[in-house]
Order: sequence, then structure tokens, then C-alpha cells
Amino acid sequence: MGGLTVAAAPASTFPPVRGRLTASAPVGRHTWFGVGGAAEWLFQPADRDDLAQFLAALPPIVPVTVLGGGANTLVRDGGIPGVTIRLGRGFSRLAAANAEIVAGAGTLHLNLARFAVTAGIAGLEFLCGVPGTVGGGLRMNAGAYGREIKDVLVSATALDRAGREHRLDAAEMGFGYRCSAVASDWIFVEARFRGEPGEPSAVARRMAEIRALREASQPIRARTGGSTFRNPPGGSAWRLIEAAGCRGLRRGGALVSPSMSTS
Ligand SMILES: Cc1cc2nc3c(=O)[nH]c(=O)nc-3n(C[C@H](O)[C@H](O)[C@H](O)COP(=O)(O)OP(=O)(O)OC[C@H]3O[C@@H](n4cnc5c(N)ncnc54)[C@H](O)[C@@H]3O)c2cc1C
Repeated sequence: MGGLTVAAAPASTFPPVRGRLTASAPVGRHTWFGVGGAAEWLFQPADRDDLAQFLAALPPIVPVTVLGGGANTLVRDGGIPGVTIRLGRGFSRLAAANAEIVAGAGTLHLNLARFAVTAGIAGLEFLCGVPGTVGGGLRMNAGAYGREIKDVLVSATALDRAGREHRLDAAEMGFGYRCSAVASDWIFVEARFRGEPGEPSAVARRMAEIRALREASQPIRARTGGSTFRNPPGGSAWRLIEAAGCRGLRRGGALVSPSMSTS
């Protein structure tokens, strides 16, 4: 990641905020891998208006990076230039009506799946095993066990680099395999999902089955990239890794899993 370095800039360089603006924040440590450098500046907006006003006033030349749960992000040792934005409590609202759920983009997938259980909404159980947040899931079209975000998304709301709000229907997201085509500098702030009415105990049972399947097939508590590798069309990433003789390959502190998941 290149771009303008604002590390030495005083906080007064930035627009006034209600959230938290922190210099040299060790964000690498808070990703799934737990490695990598610091964000020159970390902004944790109080809410959507705070984020919109900040983006509108931030000089366009300052690079902006958004980080969700860090489950699909490896921060380089040199850190992240410019401003890194992480959505916290002000973006974790959950509300349900008519088999639909509106979720803030900072909501953990697991919390969304649990909320669906209590709301009696089926169809979102697959998210319980995908680490990360709604924002990261929208960007990556996260999926597991035959379902993806694109199958349950009604619409998403995003802010562009100038802080303007946009609402995108699922069809406008340009979803592909583990990706979406939305401009890379747009920040998702909220999403609306649709499931179907379900008996809470049955939804909870399905969720427990998924969690058990995952525990049996993946080292989910280790500092692993999980399903980070994309499968090639018609093939499996693990087969390619195996064929290249990389199973168990170690370089420094990085290791290719000796027991790769074949699911
Ligand atoms: C153990 C393990 C298992 C995994 N299993 C699966 C799996 O089964 N299926 C699967 O699909 N993935 C899986 N993954 C990958 C990961 O869980 C998903 O990609 C998830 O969607 C990442 O979400 P995140 O919030 O952590 O995103 P991050 O890693 O923080 O970010 C990923 C991308 O999303 C962008 N982003 C994050 N938040 C926003 C936002 N609010 N607005 C715009 N862009 C944003 C970031 O800029 C970055 O480009 C696994 C990862 C691990 C570590």
C-alpha cells in the first residue's frame, strides 16, 4: 500500500470527530493473524454521521483503509499509511421485522447469526462459522456450506470517499466468488438481509451442526487464514497447494497447514 504519509501530522490536521482518532495504532495485532505494523492513524467513528463528516472534510489525497474483523487481512510490517477506519459499537445495531434483519456493518457475523435465531429467522446460520463482520462479509461475499451473502442480502448502505451515502440493491453489488465489485473506497455502514420464518429451536440446531462441522474440519482457534484461499474454477485451492509440494512448508513464523481442510 503506497500513499501519502501523515504519520507526523498533528491530530489538528484532521477534521474534528466525536469518535476516537489514535496515532500509531497497532492494528496488525488485532487482526486474525495477530501480526503486522501500525496504522498511521486509526479512526473509530462514533456513528454514521461522524464517519460521513470526517470523510467529507478529509483531504482526498489522504489514503483511507477500512478494516473489519481482520479475518481476511494481513497487515504488512511497515503498517498502513494514512487513515485506517474501523467500525465499532456505533455500527453494531441489529433490528428484525418480517423475516428481515438490518445490521450495522460492524456487527460480527456470529452475532448476526445468533440474533437471527432469537428473531426466528432461518437462512443466516451459515454466517456463524465465518469470522469477521458484516462489512467484511459484504466486500468479500462471504459464504460457507452452500450459501453466500449474495443469497441473503436485500440491500447495503455505503459511504463514498466524500462521505456521500449510497444504497445498493443486492444486484448492484456485483457479487462474484468471494468478492464484490463495489468501489474499493466505499465503506459499508449497514445491510438488510432476508431469511425466512423459522422455529428458533430448529434454527439453533442447524447453527450448532454447522459449528460442529467446522470444528471437526478446521483449526478454527489457531492463527490461520481459514478459507482465505479462493478455489480456482472447478478445482480446490488445497489440491494446488498439495501439488506444489507446499503442505507443511515453513518460512520464518509462517506455515502452510500440514493438515489442510478439504471441505
Ligand atoms: C479461521 C477462518 C475461517 C474462515 N472461513 C471462511 C469461510 O468459510 N468463508 C468465507 O467466505 N471466508 C472465510 N474466512 C475469511 C473471512 O472470514 C471473510 O473474508 C470475512 O468476510 C472477513 O471479514 P472481516 O470483517 O474480518 O474483513 P477484514 O479482513 O477486516 O477485511 C476484508 C476486506 O473487507 C474490507 N472491509 C471490511 N469492512 C468493510 C466495510 N465496512 N466496508 C467496506 N469494506 C470493508 C476490507 O477493506 C478488506 O478489503 C475465514 C477466515 C478465517 C481466519
